[in-house]
Amino acid sequence: MATERTFSIIKPDATRRNLTGAINAVFEKNGLRIVAQKRIQMSQAQAETFYGVHHERPFFKDLVSFMVSGPVVVQVLEGDNAVAKNRELMGATNPANAAEGTIRKLFAESIEANSVHGSDSPENAATEIAYFFAGSEIVG
Ligand code: ATP
Ligand code: MG
Repeated sequence: MATERTFSIIKPDATRRNLTGAINAVFEKNGLRIVAQKRIQMSQAQAETFYGVHHERPFFKDLVSFMVSGPVVVQVLEGDNAVAKNRELMGATNPANAAEGTIRKLFAESIEANSVHGSDSPENAATEIAYFFAGSEIVG
């Protein structure tokens, strides 16, 4: 398996409940290294661009409002097969369908307030990392 990088966001529902460390512990226990991380307040424009692929969906407006409702922690995670590994650790979008032990099963409040984002392909990971981080901020 190749070492890979993926992009992650700890969402406002989780920062509000002081769960950054608990979520990071799941990554680190499972072989993902946090090679970049910062806590930011996302702007409306950033959130709209980031989730632009969903802009025709009925939940888009609410999703953007949620993502700017409090601070988020944006991260780059590195490890073997990091994109797929992180998606596995996150669990299903809807926590009601998420497997036991996954971050969303453990922590998510709802299908919208589901605690974490993770890139869904290596191509999207590269785009998403570049959207939030300068190369000099990532230290592997
Ligand atoms: P993410 O992209 O945040 O990692 P995902 O890939 O599991 O999540 P997507 O289908 O890309 O799921 O949806 C993006 C986000 O939009 C979800 O994580 C969730 O916050 C929100 N969302 C998705 N479906 C719904 C829905 N039916 N109602 C409300 N919010 C939704
Ligand atoms: Mg997605």
